[in-house]
Amino acid sequence: MQLLDGKVVSRHVKNDLKDKVEKRLAKGLPAPHLVAVLVGDDPASASYVRSKVRSCDQVGFKSTLIRKADTISQEELIAIVEELNADNDVDGFIVQLPLPNHIDDQSITLAIDPRKDVDGFHPVNFGRMAQGLPAYIPATPLGILKMLEYYKVETNGRNCVVVGRSNIVGTPMSILLSRKANPGNCTVTLTHSRTKDIKAELLRADIIIAAIGIPHFVKEDMVKEGAVVIDVGINRVEDASRERGYRLVGDVDFDNVAPKTSYITPVPGGVGLMTVASLMLNTYYSAEQSIYQKG
Ligand code: NAD
Repeated sequence: MQLLDGKVVSRHVKNDLKDKVEKRLAKGLPAPHLVAVLVGDDPASASYVRSKVRSCDQVGFKSTLIRKADTISQEELIAIVEELNADNDVDGFIVQLPLPNHIDDQSITLAIDPRKDVDGFHPVNFGRMAQGLPAYIPATPLGILKMLEYYKVETNGRNCVVVGRSNIVGTPMSILLSRKANPGNCTVTLTHSRTKDIKAELLRADIIIAAIGIPHFVKEDMVKEGAVVIDVGINRVEDASRERGYRLVGDVDFDNVAPKTSYITPVPGGVGLMTVASLMLNTYYSAEQSIYQKG
């Protein structure tokens, strides 16, 4: 079993970005600028945003954090989005999800200019991705592709089973791995809460992508010998032995599943780190106008 180590791959991606930023600065170009909008004080969201800001510092990007109370109205939040859309100093921005219940996530996503949508959640980017056109690929799926690429995991012609059909992970992952590309060219099955027999589907999988949000959902008897297992889940489970009272576990029962696999991602230290690194990549692509021209 080989660990697909998010620390190693994210460090590789970030070091490469750091070099590229230095080259931009040497040419007199500005550092890429990412803005994160955080609404409310959900501890998990605050922690994700902190790690995004920290990563910007590591690679030499400029970052700005806009914090708003959870009493902000949808109109006020849309006004912030519109200001960021129009601000030439901003290469990309994210509005950290989830948002409070009185705000419609979809309306916020739709208000973001696709050219600055470095999370890759806007339908324009999603549609372009689905057609294989240049697009911001959602950060978590992009991070998974980068990991598969780094460890040269063969995907061509293999059976891939994705568990979970969210717009930000499961569904884009199923599209990306079925594309005529490398990584890609998989025969993909997308499973979800209404799938009749997930175990039977998983047992046919050469590659499993688990993105459900249920701790240790994927058990040893659901995985065939030699499978590649990518665990996207980040779940907090109570743990009185930890000072903070909880620990993070994935959607895969790592200890029991790992010995059967050829490659597996740990949680923490796997896909989560790649998600942040990929957000940096998308912001760099925006600054370089690799996907869209500015203006
Ligand atoms: P989500 O929470 O929006 O949806 C869950 C999906 O799982 C749904 O499509 C549902 O059909 C499916 N599902 C639920 N119960 C199921 C069951 N019993 N059997 C089969 N499928 C079932 O999904 P999400 O936003 O992709 O999040 C999934 C997990 O991934 C969460 O733990 C989340 O915290 C984590 N996540 C991690 C990262 C990262 O960077 N590592 C990024 C995004 C999400």
